[in-house]
Amino acid sequence: MSPIDDSLIAEILIVGGGLVGLTLAISAAQSGFRVVVIDRDVPDNSTGADFDGRVSSVAAGSANLFKALGLWGMVSSEAQPIHQIRVSDGQAPRFLHYDSDDLGGQAMGYIVENRILRQALHEAVKREDRIVLKTGTSLEKLETDSFRVAATLSDGTLVRAPLAVAADGRDSSVRLSSGIGATCKEYGQMGIVCTVAHEFDHEGIAHERFLRGGPFAILPMKGKKSSLVWVEKTELARELLRLKAEAFLDELRWRFGDFLGDLGLAGRVWSYPLSLSMARDLVAQRIVLVGDAAHAIHPIAGQGLNLGLRDAAVLVEVMDDARSIGLDIGDQGTLRRYSRWRRFDGLTMALVTDGLNRLFAHDSEIFRVMRNAGLTAVNSNRPLKALFQKHAMGLLGKLPKLLEGERL
Ligand SMILES: Cc1cc2nc3c(=O)[nH]c(=O)nc-3n(C[C@H](O)[C@H](O)[C@H](O)COP(=O)(O)OP(=O)(O)OC[C@H]3O[C@@H](n4cnc5c(N)ncnc54)[C@H](O)[C@@H]3O)c2cc1C
Repeated sequence: MSPIDDSLIAEILIVGGGLVGLTLAISAAQSGFRVVVIDRDVPDNSTGADFDGRVSSVAAGSANLFKALGLWGMVSSEAQPIHQIRVSDGQAPRFLHYDSDDLGGQAMGYIVENRILRQALHEAVKREDRIVLKTGTSLEKLETDSFRVAATLSDGTLVRAPLAVAADGRDSSVRLSSGIGATCKEYGQMGIVCTVAHEFDHEGIAHERFLRGGPFAILPMKGKKSSLVWVEKTELARELLRLKAEAFLDELRWRFGDFLGDLGLAGRVWSYPLSLSMARDLVAQRIVLVGDAAHAIHPIAGQGLNLGLRDAAVLVEVMDDARSIGLDIGDQGTLRRYSRWRRFDGLTMALVTDGLNRLFAHDSEIFRVMRNAGLTAVNSNRPLKALFQKHAMGLLGKLPKLLEGERL
């Protein structure tokens, strides 16, 4: 890809170099496409400990993708395998229990700090000479016609390509400028995120408890540490965030319990306002949406990133197929194939996460009885349980090759 004056010619322009945009860039480059990625942040910020306190539960299918791309070696020593998942309604003793032994001992997924994923992706980008990454750069203008997109960047560069990908997150400016509407909903909840150090080993068990304010997830990290995603109604979350460390820890201990012994905060406390945003279409003329730009969902099931990674893997496969028979990668037919393949997964996940959040928000006795009956019913129905387990592992439905761990 050679700069001509102040312009760059690429095959794919990716707006947004977050976890999904960079994974897509690497997948596309490894399939032989020339890619320009732009991001308004700079890596020194986005890979540091002060940028994002979250971890991601990387489903088994997403781990296969990272393996196929040769990234897993940079991540695996920091990835905690999930051996069991225990889902319970409040502090109720009965829970839905997933065990990796039920599926032949394969880890259901891994908990990895987002900063570790970002560092690995940036390292991998440096090794790909088909990728030009422009950081500290945002999109100023995007024009499309029947043959190509032309993007003007904040540093004055003009990028021309047959396809532009919106990987610019939940408030995607590319989606807005291409006229694709979205269904949006504020949850009136906040996700409080922090890392907790504990006395005993977590044994790779993840816990999802549905408490009054929202879900409370305990996600096992490497060592005697767990990451919490503690969802509360916004007002209460703000009060909690204003508490002094010891008072905050008391509130946390009360919800967490003492099954892992003494607890302490390891690092600062983060908060994320929660909302849903579902794009009404995944494609427009020479534009395609991936990741949170296409579907930003409630973190209740830890699936947002996994959905976005599946978008990336499918998009590359669709483009690769199109090119192999001489078709234009930005053509509507190619983009519609992507859209048909990805629509159902995104919609299902949005409906499931939204529905679960609502179901568990009700505090009445009748809802509690129904929920307990539901958890018990799923727990004792092996085929249904196995189906849910495979879905959570990202191994259900028609999978793109990269999700099966195969290179294109
Ligand atoms: C509390 C919480 C916990 C979560 N836990 C999990 C989990 O366990 N598992 C899971 O799968 N998912 C989880 N998620 C969801 C997951 O974090 C997101 O789905 C994922 O990070 C989306 O990645 P993305 O790359 O699509 O978007 P983003 O991470 O939002 O990246 C977008 C990028 O685009 C850049 N950008 C935006 N606009 C422009 C512009 N105009 N020009 C240039 N660059 C631009 C931004 O700088 C950013 O780098 C969680 C979410 C929350 C809130």
